[in-house]
Amino acid sequence: MTISQPTQAPILHNYIGGQWVPSTSDETQQIHNPATDEVLALVPLGNRSDIDQAVEAARKAFPAWRATPPQERARYFFKLRQLLDEHRDELARLITTEMGKTLDDARGEVQRGIENVETACGIPSLMMGYSLEDGAAHGIDEEVIYQPLGAFAGITPFNFPFMIAFWFWPYAVACGNTFILKPSEQDPIVQKRVFELIEQVGFPAGVINMVNGGKEAVNALLEHPGIKGISFVGSTRTAQYVYAQAAAHGKRVQASGGAKNAIVVMPDADLDMYLGTIMNSCFGAAGQRCLANSLILTVGSAHEAVRARIGEAASRLRLGNGLDKGTDMGPVVSSAARDRIAAAIARGIEEGAEPVLDGRQVHISDYPQGYFVGPTVLDNVRPGMSVYEEEIFGPVIGLVPVDTLAEAIELINAKEYGNAASIFTQSGFAAREFRYRVETGNIGINVGVAAPVAYFPFSGAKSSFFGNLHPQGRDAVRFFTESKVVITRWTPGDGQQAITGIGR
Ligand code: NAD
Repeated sequence: MTISQPTQAPILHNYIGGQWVPSTSDETQQIHNPATDEVLALVPLGNRSDIDQAVEAARKAFPAWRATPPQERARYFFKLRQLLDEHRDELARLITTEMGKTLDDARGEVQRGIENVETACGIPSLMMGYSLEDGAAHGIDEEVIYQPLGAFAGITPFNFPFMIAFWFWPYAVACGNTFILKPSEQDPIVQKRVFELIEQVGFPAGVINMVNGGKEAVNALLEHPGIKGISFVGSTRTAQYVYAQAAAHGKRVQASGGAKNAIVVMPDADLDMYLGTIMNSCFGAAGQRCLANSLILTVGSAHEAVRARIGEAASRLRLGNGLDKGTDMGPVVSSAARDRIAAAIARGIEEGAEPVLDGRQVHISDYPQGYFVGPTVLDNVRPGMSVYEEEIFGPVIGLVPVDTLAEAIELINAKEYGNAASIFTQSGFAAREFRYRVETGNIGINVGVAAPVAYFPFSGAKSSFFGNLHPQGRDAVRFFTESKVVITRWTPGDGQQAITGIGR
């Protein structure tokens, strides 16, 4: 909701050029605690003038930062890692309070974010180039050096308000670039705390900046001639738009989009061992993970067991405030998300899906104002149904009975999205064929959430990723640097031959 009157809730500021500064926009949006509906803060919807200020600060900081040796740049990240580690519980609580996921889940998110900072500490090794003596011809050597480019920007989604920013900026900045982060306007409070810690680290002014806002701020970043590249994560529609707009303005882009991930359960799957993993991958963070699985393709006789066991386990999940001990699933991020998910369930049932468990009417007595949707299991979901085709981004799982693994793979590969897919089986052959044939960027084999750790690329394909170099690890280092090739020849000039004693 956009409002113009002041309220008691604090207004967030931007962090530009090493200073906390108010936005020049007077438009704000409320940030709610999704478990209680309480207004936590107001986020300014930043404009072009905020972005202009940030770009100027980032560009001004670039020459000196670029000239700072990589091992010195890395030392800032060792300090940051220490501070994040000391504040991990506070950061996790902030995530839960503004986004809704359980505290355990939020702790996992903080850990994954910190691991990217740890990886960026290795920048002197990660950024090394390569060379070949006599590479071009005898006496002519050739080498590649990786150089930073200037100011980059990152635009992040609501569902990992802490972690996703760390997929980008530690690599960009460790490589010698400067950076502007535009966090999700739905839950930017945890980034305010992160930037207070960044301030304590003492990065030179302008090296890392943050501007709050929504569409207008994003458009200003995409169009600004002072920005060299854009890193984006969000829904496919926005990712596609960001990719096209930023490229049209001459920038390099990496843009991760939405997903509709599937699990294949083979008849020989060890459900006693993996039921918890499958449940977590479907209902963790109330289904609001880009790697959440929202379809379970059951092969042959696996169907009955999966339907019974998932239905039973889902009915036992305890809903509540993610901060409370014993909560298995928190609310979804907003009342709008709750209403959208409820409408998607209704449509699925109208289209013929059979409800095993319907989470639309849940009431949590301790949190009557919370945005809760209960775990929902729909059976006999088929291609063509909206619950099969569309990303719902909520705790809704569709069971899709199939006869063979080949049929399951065909269905996965026919989908628009290509973020992740997992198989549960005891057969090495089935697993190998799955890995070989499935066209998604991330693959899980007896792993529910196929989330790559920081030193691997966070992959994605088809409508789940636009670009070629992914977030995290070596891909990120390549994205944030130019490969410069140097070809060198030295010949003995006047007198050189006499001094060196070496001839042509
Ligand atoms: P979103 O696309 O609504 O917003 C993402 C960012 O884009 C925000 O910072 C927002 O301010 C900005 N934005 C939104 N609409 C815009 C517009 N019209 N023009 C310019 N900027 C705009 O996404 P969300 O709802 O915050 O996040 C959930 C989505 O992100 C899901 O689709 C999920 O699958 C996806 N996601 C993908 C990955 C991945 O790795 N592929 C990871 C996390 C989330």
